[in-house]
Amino acid sequence: MARILMENITKTFIDDKRGGTFTAVNDASFEIKDKEFLVFVGPSGCGKTTSLRMIAGLERQTSGNIYIDEKLVNNMHPKDRDIAMVFQDYALYPHMTIEENLAFGLKNMKVSKQEIKEKIDYATKILGLEQLLDRKPKELSGGQRQRVAVGRAIVRDPKVFLFDEPLSNLDAKLRVQMRIELAELHRRLGATIVYVTHDQVEAMTLGERIVVMNQGEIQQIATPRELYRNPANMFVAGFIGSPPMNFFDCVLETASTIKIGDLTFTLPEKLIERYRSFVGKKVVLGLRPEDIYDEEFAFSVNKTNKARMKVKAIEHLGGENLVYFHVGERIITAKVSGESFIRAGEEKSFVFNLEKMHLFDPV
Ligand code: ADP
Ligand code: MG
Repeated sequence: MARILMENITKTFIDDKRGGTFTAVNDASFEIKDKEFLVFVGPSGCGKTTSLRMIAGLERQTSGNIYIDEKLVNNMHPKDRDIAMVFQDYALYPHMTIEENLAFGLKNMKVSKQEIKEKIDYATKILGLEQLLDRKPKELSGGQRQRVAVGRAIVRDPKVFLFDEPLSNLDAKLRVQMRIELAELHRRLGATIVYVTHDQVEAMTLGERIVVMNQGEIQQIATPRELYRNPANMFVAGFIGSPPMNFFDCVLETASTIKIGDLTFTLPEKLIERYRSFVGKKVVLGLRPEDIYDEEFAFSVNKTNKARMKVKAIEHLGGENLVYFHVGERIITAKVSGESFIRAGEEKSFVFNLEKMHLFDPV
């Protein structure tokens, strides 16, 4: 069993430069379930690493409680928490061979030679490191070094694995490969994993549940599907999904009519009740690029809401095209079929599938 409960956790640092204090994590509560792959995601500086370090016991929370398997661990030393952390910079010992790197922590824990050998065998097989045991870290590629860093955590057989941006030093192709390996590793080990990244694609592909953070505060905790479909606020809506969700400044004139600049759109029947409290107000309408269509390629989509737009720019990605146009002050992105022939400067009719829209209070 490895279940972690964080209850109203706040971390305040004394700010030496500016004086006073700085709140890196503000009243965060969450649960990490046994065997779960939980991902923390948010922009740089939002408090992800600090959260992870508090779980590990490397940083003491200013207030709040941490439980591991129902036991209050606020005062427990990191080495007694049975948690292994894998860092972004791998932190391998350069003068030791890979085998010595893998064995180092275990030797310190006075594990027997036989047991060390068995654990290293197990980890090297899982990670495909068998041929590299005699090498030094500098003789390995970035991906191989990353695997050794993970191996060092596996040999400890901890209750929980903590990963802090482990793939951010790898090139794009290797990152995708390692992502697949980490997901597979999670299945094989049946381990509880807490994983931190600033990359929303990594979060969406790896996380069973995702904690979205901004400026020290948890914005939403949900499955990837739920985050994409029902973002709790504009921050989450704009952070999850690529290209990001479009925002339009508008007014909900009646329960069923939305005015966006000179455009008047009709709210789908099924959304009228949900957004009734917004009637008469200035609101922000969110619509993802994939929910705006070139009309010629809008198959099996409701075409009630469409408008001619002057195309500002287009990017051909092969399977799809990204089309940019202005609505008011904002630049809107449409992700349309790769078959669609659109040129910059031309006027074209676009369908806005408002069945997929979201309304937010302006910030
Ligand atoms: P992230 O990992 O999301 O990029 P961090 O948790 O590392 O963010 O940092 C959150 C905020 O707390 C940042 O503004 C950072 O400058 C600040 N911070 C982190 N550690 C310390 C520290 N030891 N002293 C003062 N401020 C810190
Ligand atoms: Mg960090």
